Amino acid sequence: MGIYYHSTRNKDKHYTASQAILKGLADDGGLFVPSQFPDMSDKLDQLAKMEYHQLCHTVVCSFFEEFKDDQEFKADVERAYQKFETTDAVQLKTFDNVCYMELYHGPTCAFKDFALSVLPYEIRAAKRNLGIEKEYAILTATSGDTGKAALEAFRGQEGFKIAVTYPKNGVSKIQQIQMNSTSESNTFVVGLEGNFDQCQTMVKEMFGQKYQNVEISSANSINIGRLIPQVAYYFWTYLQLQTQGKIAKGQKINFCVPTGNFGDILAGYIAKQMGLPVDKLVCASNKNNILTDFFNTGVYDKRREFYLTKSPSMDILISSNFERLLWFVSKDDAYVAKLMDDLKQNGLFKADELLPQMYDFVAGFASEEDTANEIKRVFDSQNYLIDTHTAVASHVAYKLDMPGFMVVLSTASPYKFCSAVLDALGTTPDPQDEFKVLDDLQTVSGTVAPQPLAMLKTAKEHHKNSGNVDQVKLLIKNFLENK
Ligand SMILES: *Cc1c(COP(=O)(O)O)cnc(C)c1O
Repeated sequence: MGIYYHSTRNKDKHYTASQAILKGLADDGGLFVPSQFPDMSDKLDQLAKMEYHQLCHTVVCSFFEEFKDDQEFKADVERAYQKFETTDAVQLKTFDNVCYMELYHGPTCAFKDFALSVLPYEIRAAKRNLGIEKEYAILTATSGDTGKAALEAFRGQEGFKIAVTYPKNGVSKIQQIQMNSTSESNTFVVGLEGNFDQCQTMVKEMFGQKYQNVEISSANSINIGRLIPQVAYYFWTYLQLQTQGKIAKGQKINFCVPTGNFGDILAGYIAKQMGLPVDKLVCASNKNNILTDFFNTGVYDKRREFYLTKSPSMDILISSNFERLLWFVSKDDAYVAKLMDDLKQNGLFKADELLPQMYDFVAGFASEEDTANEIKRVFDSQNYLIDTHTAVASHVAYKLDMPGFMVVLSTASPYKFCSAVLDALGTTPDPQDEFKVLDDLQTVSGTVAPQPLAMLKTAKEHHKNSGNVDQVKLLIKNFLENK
């Protein structure tokens, strides 16, 4: 009954989990999906007794079966979550029938730590499994959060190098210092004189090339190894709420997810397929509301204006992981390949016939004004501080006012987006000095900034490189080849 992996665009070519993790993306451009979902519905009581890292290990090995007996992998997963602030990697804040699932207590204060902390160990387990000894280089284009989370996960890891490139004027000052202050010699950070799309295009081109003595892999959320560990926090949160008596055993609850690349919410969908009692998954978008439109009309149309918002990690028009949902509900690889081709050729696809099978999802969005108002509303009514991404989801959940219990995924520390949060609370942020803004936010909110962000004030920026496309490509190549 073993699980294998195949591309969303070709179900006939089978891969093992290890192969899928190491490849990242299928050769035909599709994303890897499991041949079936493991059933956990009769194991919930068992999972409820586990610590976070054990639960995560169990979920990951239920998909990546060849890792089950790998004791080193098991110890590594435990080690990965030791880098979090508390043993319970997830913190929950419940107000009546709404609970905020805080996913930002990892080393870089955003939820991407959950999957990226485990990814190096998955890659290492996959290499052991396939008997591969070559060094791997992780190449990542980032609009901010992924870059630092990947650097933090791979820095100092034997057998790995990591190079990160970001749009030089497109990330927040805090994010830039976070990345540039990474000191280990297996890390390289370089700013590109260009926007995020140009960063991504450049990295894709570099993937097509060969480098001496090193294989290239990706830490972006197209990798199945990044998606699966995220399933664990849905189980963890549900079972915690049940243990705390906030919900009844077996009660179906809703999750509202601030969505960009559709990875986080897809992990929730997978948890439901595995038997977790989930009712609706609410897909919350910012002003770039292409997914809201899709769920309402069945048409995915990216021929529209792209907005830079105060929730930048959700500023996305091509939600890569949505392709996986198209496969899960259609089970038709030729059809998915055609939709993706339509998107590439014509900038849109029409899949309204799939909407009835997407009944698990509800969609909504928040404007910039809605987002700021929601930060203030939650702070004034609950004395609780949320970031701009969380506010998008919180607003959508509040407006929908669905019956039952709602969990809002809280994806970043408010201190990662100090200026926008302070502004929303009614205090004008100092445009020149990020750390003054951080101090002001502490004063105004009566909360304390997380240590990894507060200490950036005195951090040394080790990486100072930047350049145009050709210069950046050469710098990265030289780093990868030890020149
Ligand atoms: C990446 C990110 C998101 C979006 O998650 P997806 O998995 O891409 O949908 C939301 N909030 C924050 C803070 C993020 O970093």
